[in-house]
Amino acid sequence: MILRARVLVTMDGPPIENGAVAILEDRIVNVGKFPEIANSHSGEDIVNLGDQVVLPGLINSHCHLDYTCLRGAIPRQNSFADWIGVINAAKARLTADDYCESINEGFLEAQRFGTTTIANLTAFPELISRIAPPIRTWWFAELIDVRNPERAREMAVRAADQLKRQERWGLAPHAPFTASPNLYRCCEQVAETENILLTTHLGESREEMQMFRDANGALYNFLKEIGRDMSDCGTKTPVEHFFAGLVDANRPYLFVHLNEVSEGDLGLLQQFARSSSIVHCPRSHEYFQHSAFRFETLRNAGFNICLATDSLASNHDLSLFAEMRAFQENFPSVPPVEILKMATTNPARALQQERALGKIGPGFVADLIAFPIEKPRSIFEEIVAFDRPVRWAMLGGRILGEPAKFSKPLSFSQN
Ligand SMILES: [Zn+2]
Repeated sequence: MILRARVLVTMDGPPIENGAVAILEDRIVNVGKFPEIANSHSGEDIVNLGDQVVLPGLINSHCHLDYTCLRGAIPRQNSFADWIGVINAAKARLTADDYCESINEGFLEAQRFGTTTIANLTAFPELISRIAPPIRTWWFAELIDVRNPERAREMAVRAADQLKRQERWGLAPHAPFTASPNLYRCCEQVAETENILLTTHLGESREEMQMFRDANGALYNFLKEIGRDMSDCGTKTPVEHFFAGLVDANRPYLFVHLNEVSEGDLGLLQQFARSSSIVHCPRSHEYFQHSAFRFETLRNAGFNICLATDSLASNHDLSLFAEMRAFQENFPSVPPVEILKMATTNPARALQQERALGKIGPGFVADLIAFPIEKPRSIFEEIVAFDRPVRWAMLGGRILGEPAKFSKPLSFSQN
């Protein structure tokens, strides 16, 4: 098949006007100007997308589709600890069926906004077998052992057993304030043997900083009340606390948030900049009124920085275009092409898929989206400004909404 469009934004060189992509099964085999591609692949079906831009499908590197049904349900709270209290009360009213519905609804919404790959954390790995994601999904089991640290190993092993049947999965020890150093170690051991990815929330809120560094504040009090052993508080920042417990310094992580980073933390983080990635969630950040995200500092330290939506318990929708715009408002000097990389090539690298996802090039998986171009501005400016549903998408060479062409499952390796 040959796809033709007014502009191809490949994220692998300059945009190509009157461009075409040749696709064989699930992969892109050739990219260039339409006449050249039509010439070298004569006889192939041509799908002409007309006055549209074609770009790689967007990659959401952090969300919790479990909570899609909590959109608008949790008003802004005075403290992060209060928010945890309110979401826990809301979760207590949900059934397994509610969660399945919520996850399915979230997948469809993400797809409508042009997302073709998603890294989704779930607190209910046992429900995954009941769900058929319409887009490429990395399932991460979110693990919390704050109430029962003696079960850390059992928890990590059980989650791995539940997720192993999935093509793409990982583990998400929740955060240093809810996951013990032992739970992190158990997850790292599973990651070592199973060759999977790890992600964790780190340094998200002022209250987390206050808890670990000063042994006080709302989060400290909340966790003390539910029985967490608080003897690890009062000396270290969250980042220092996390790295003190780390076994393998080279193990790649997707660190989510990192809003609270001291000068000392920066020195510590520097050594992980090559292997690990940072996920920033601009609208969730705004909802919580977190400390300013130190984008320039972390980027200059060499970190691969990605954008994501987080859950709808702290956001309005699952649009990565809206995240790109929220980021642009806070960082107007960052060129739109760099912002688009944070939703394509950067998260592809974070998921160790830099040779398969996030770009339009030979050998890459044919995960593509297209939408009409209207205003004669810079193409990247126009992409970031796009604020409607994406009506055309392709996943692994199959146009979404069309019946599957290939009976075999998408060939796709974990790494
Ligand atoms: Zn999160």
